[in-house]
Amino acid sequence: KAALHDMTVKAPALARLNGDAKGGTQTSQYFGQNTFGARQMRDKLPKKVFQKLQATIRLGKKLDSEIAAPIAEAIKEWAVSKGVTHYTHWFQPQTGLTAEKHDAFLSFDDEGTPIEAFSAAQLIQSEPDASSFPSGGLRATWEARGYTAWNPASPVFVVEGPGTRTLCIPSVFIGYNGEALDEMTPLLRSSDVLSEKAIALLELLGDSGVQRVITTLGPEQEYFLIDRTQFALRPDLVMAGRTLVGAAPPRGQQLEDHYFGNIPERIAACIAEVEHELYKLGVPIVTRHNEVAPSQFEMAPRFEETDLAVDHNQLVMSTLRRVALRHGLQALLHEKPFAGINGSGKHCNWSMSLAADSADLDGLNLLKPGKTPHQNVRFLIFLAAVLQAVHKHAGLLRAGIGTSGNEHRLGANEAPPAIISVFMGQTLSQMIDDISAGRSREKHASQQLIDLGVAKLPDIEKDNTDRNRTSPFAFTGNKFEFRAVGSSQSIAFPVMLLNVAVAEAIEDLTNKLRKQLETTKEIDDAVLEVVRPSFKASASVLFEGNNYSDEWVQEAERRGLLNLRRTPEALAQLTTESTRKLFASTGVLSEAELESRYHVRVERYVKDMLIELHTLQQIVDTLVLPAAYSYANELATGAAHAKSAGVGTIPQVAAADRVGKLIVALEEARGALGEVVTRAEHSHESPDTCAKLLTSEGADAMAAVRAASDALELGLPDDHWPLPKYREMLFPV
Ligand code: ADP
Ligand code: MG
Repeated sequence: KAALHDMTVKAPALARLNGDAKGGTQTSQYFGQNTFGARQMRDKLPKKVFQKLQATIRLGKKLDSEIAAPIAEAIKEWAVSKGVTHYTHWFQPQTGLTAEKHDAFLSFDDEGTPIEAFSAAQLIQSEPDASSFPSGGLRATWEARGYTAWNPASPVFVVEGPGTRTLCIPSVFIGYNGEALDEMTPLLRSSDVLSEKAIALLELLGDSGVQRVITTLGPEQEYFLIDRTQFALRPDLVMAGRTLVGAAPPRGQQLEDHYFGNIPERIAACIAEVEHELYKLGVPIVTRHNEVAPSQFEMAPRFEETDLAVDHNQLVMSTLRRVALRHGLQALLHEKPFAGINGSGKHCNWSMSLAADSADLDGLNLLKPGKTPHQNVRFLIFLAAVLQAVHKHAGLLRAGIGTSGNEHRLGANEAPPAIISVFMGQTLSQMIDDISAGRSREKHASQQLIDLGVAKLPDIEKDNTDRNRTSPFAFTGNKFEFRAVGSSQSIAFPVMLLNVAVAEAIEDLTNKLRKQLETTKEIDDAVLEVVRPSFKASASVLFEGNNYSDEWVQEAERRGLLNLRRTPEALAQLTTESTRKLFASTGVLSEAELESRYHVRVERYVKDMLIELHTLQQIVDTLVLPAAYSYANELATGAAHAKSAGVGTIPQVAAADRVGKLIVALEEARGALGEVVTRAEHSHESPDTCAKLLTSEGADAMAAVRAASDALELGLPDDHWPLPKYREMLFPV
């Protein structure tokens, strides 16, 4: 342990903070300096090209190949001036991470003279060997060939490492027949579909001239930071991202003293440097604070358009991991790195807003109550659409956050439970109740709106102080907060599912409204007639109480809500009839693409679980048991010595007995674990069957081993215990 301590880099790189910001030390001066964003493009590109590109980005369209050449040239010049030598298409295969393959700018002209070159074709498209990414069966049809294509809405950026400068081109990753092999393509498709459906509804409501409806996203990222040395000594953290053994320390989070507490200096220096790197990349981080668990923190950006926010969240995660090392720290992004204390989530704040010609519609947030009854009628119908979507596709949304990591978090400390429900707050749930019950029905619309409280909705945002922190999906004044999302996952997938579900609901309500308008003249009246049955039908998904209580679990069951506690049953929701219909009707994923998502995720779950099982076996066999036997031997030897010396009282005998029993218990649990592993690996069953075995017997066997090992940890001398303890990792001195 001591040797490792010496190896730790202990240089809080504050100098870097002050030194390398070319534009000065004010954040606003260097923000985005490593991106080729709107500002740089305006400077470097011919006016016509810039305007065309801006229009492309704003409308979410494909890049016109005519303008690609000057853009590529400008990007290259900018990058080379920053010392960049390589470029890469940066994309998100279905691994939860990003992928990149670097190519050099270095090229040779006709005379063989070395030059820097970067063509339009290289900017727009690249062909990585796609065969080693998870494809969930799609591979067979596209024969391992795929390509990446630049998504111009996400600006290119330069990642700096010691001695390296790489130009990253945010890209989608697709097969040769256009199959989505990545997380970004379906997300972009879902944004398009949602936009199209929402515009149709807005036009019916009389709001014309809207060019695009965009979804906005502000993901709050939770994470742990622990000492790198201790991390390195924990095979479970290194291999699986979470501790598989470890007795609870006497103090956890019960004193509630960590939340919003002082950020320790070493941590603060690290976080400041992470933020500094992110600012250069144009990621607008605006808050940092201690979270509830010891050594747990959170950072949150200002919200952005969804696909950009998704890219930026990937950068947040990778920058956290990368920069923490410079400070001798390790960032843990797993959903449940430590048992018994809070896990980490990624609260996805989500809303819809407009890009429009007219000033009063441009930038308008559709989930923000307005000032006039008509604005609130518009708010109501979009609200109804979200509730209808979450009610109808609660299982699918649960599938979207179904990973082996999140399985430990959903339902545990402070985490929202596996039951998807929606919190609306008192004012709005009262109003929804009133509307559903058809109160004030006989009155004319505007009068009725006032009675229902709709006309005075602008107060909602300020009113909404008593937040329900236990809800997995909460309305927070002008947006929804999807809290059940896991801290380590790519948020592209759950947000894509949400977008698609809402798009379907918007279309449904649009059709109903169109029909209603045949008999009801006033648009406000017609909207109320349409949202009433919609609210009524989705009422069972609304819950204002404590989501952590047992009563809620029972109540939810009475209401017929799904409680999908295990990952395999959650993932099965990807293959239901209603999911298939949803994707078929919106066209966001083909049948084969949808199927592949299911397979990728089930296979990933099986692999994650097997890695955990094997790691636990190795920890027990090579660390815990040898330590325990060594102590037991010491006791026995001591007892023998004492006996031959004629000592009267020999407590070592009882102590050795006690340790011996703990060892036997662990050996037994270890044996059972081995059996499950053998069965899982040698059964020639489908991944589904294997996943079911691992989530039940596999998880139970791991829990039994853990209990036995944790008992031993508390029964062995500190200097015999071979692993850093919770106390040491969570409460650094
Ligand atoms: P808190 O949840 O602590 O009250 P805020 O409500 O200010 O904090 O915002 C939390 C996150 O929600 C931030 O990332 C913020 O940018 C984001 N957010 C705010 N408004 C929207 C919106 N209209 N759409 C998406 N995200 C939003
Ligand atoms: Mg929040």
